[in-house]
Amino acid sequence: MSEIKNSGYSGSALRLLQSANCQVGDIIRITYKTNTYEGVLIPRGESGDTTNIIVKLKNGYNVGISATVEGINVEKIGVGIKPMFASPLLPEQNSVLPHVVIMSTGGTIASRVDYRTGAVRSAISASDLYGVVPELSKIARVDTEIVFSTYSENLTPKNWTDLAQKVAERINQGIDGVVIAHGTDTMGYTSAALSFALQNLPVPVIFVGAQRSSDRPSSDAATNLIGAVRAASEAPFAEVGLAMHETISDSAIVVHRGVRVRKCHTSRRDAFKSINDFPIARVLDQKIIMQKDDYQHRDPTRQLVLKTNFCEKVALIKFYPGMDPSIIDYYVSQGFRGILLEGSGLGHVSIFCFEAIKNAIAKGVIVALSSQCIWGRVNIDIYDTGRDLLNFGVVPLDDMFPETGLVKLMWVLGQTSDLKESKRLLKTNIAGEFTSRSLPQEKIVYGAQ
Ligand code: ASP
Repeated sequence: MSEIKNSGYSGSALRLLQSANCQVGDIIRITYKTNTYEGVLIPRGESGDTTNIIVKLKNGYNVGISATVEGINVEKIGVGIKPMFASPLLPEQNSVLPHVVIMSTGGTIASRVDYRTGAVRSAISASDLYGVVPELSKIARVDTEIVFSTYSENLTPKNWTDLAQKVAERINQGIDGVVIAHGTDTMGYTSAALSFALQNLPVPVIFVGAQRSSDRPSSDAATNLIGAVRAASEAPFAEVGLAMHETISDSAIVVHRGVRVRKCHTSRRDAFKSINDFPIARVLDQKIIMQKDDYQHRDPTRQLVLKTNFCEKVALIKFYPGMDPSIIDYYVSQGFRGILLEGSGLGHVSIFCFEAIKNAIAKGVIVALSSQCIWGRVNIDIYDTGRDLLNFGVVPLDDMFPETGLVKLMWVLGQTSDLKESKRLLKTNIAGEFTSRSLPQEKIVYGAQ
């Protein structure tokens, strides 16, 4: 079977197209029951849909046909013109505006299908950006840099290190703010990673993504990007933030703290929520409205401190009823240096796992604990089984939710191999990742509003 280049297809759609030897741009015929569709095979701009094949018909309309319908047949009936992108002209840069760099790592925000020609772009260039979002030239002088070009589920801690170093280079050259365009799936992990890696920031570093790609009328890419560039250019804070829709409407963009934010919905535009915290700021009518007063102020003279090492030998293990404790033994036998346990409720793990946990700690593995409830804090002082975990040496991570706990443990073990120092760092607030007292319950937003 031949490979289909830059198609964006996966799953059953990909298999069917491969078996018919089709490439993007080819003229194909799809038949099932009494239906026949002929047209140009168009690439997909987003991940997620594994069944639909998109065909541009002769009348100019695109149709999506499911590869799973009974009796479907695909044939290649001609070789079409391969798709091309026409880049729009760059508008003039206004030299008095703040200087911002948009670094692109890939994901939906950076992919675009040109339905006229069928081309798909998985990276952002300066002219593409201005073409899609011309308003940016009124907010900032924007440079762009492609750092990676992949969906965020493919990124690893090594990418976090590279990205942090690239951001640091730009900051040390005197940029006024950084925007990082990123796939939404693991954007919260990367924003947490950079919050630990980039300390003492002088200017804001703002992550941004999109739930719908910019070729779709319902896209959130432009509004999110405008909000992020506005925050990077003008916000009074110098922290890692993540800017996305506040609600499903386009009215406001909200900037969450990089260590306190989680993707909580698969498809809604307001998928990202601050967990156990308030967002830092809102961008409403192109104005930044601060929501917190405990933030690090922008100060271009502040000297950035870079700590970019992450240890990959760290596992996140979710406890569940009937969990086989040999799962813990497995990681210990594989030389893992840290385990983040996602306990139930206040932070519980079955007594059947106790031996495995004790053994891991005795072998020098740091075992930390968060709650799979996501909201709230672990408190293992209350029941005696929790107190047992404390006595074994398990480190409870207060109100840090598991993904940030995992990234922090990776970062801590990337800084030191000393057990005492690791525990000290885990319990030290580095980037606002936990609070020792919870906020008033009624003020915390959880679930979709
Ligand atoms: N799976 C994609 C990614 O995280 C979805 C997106 O781009 O938002 O890269």
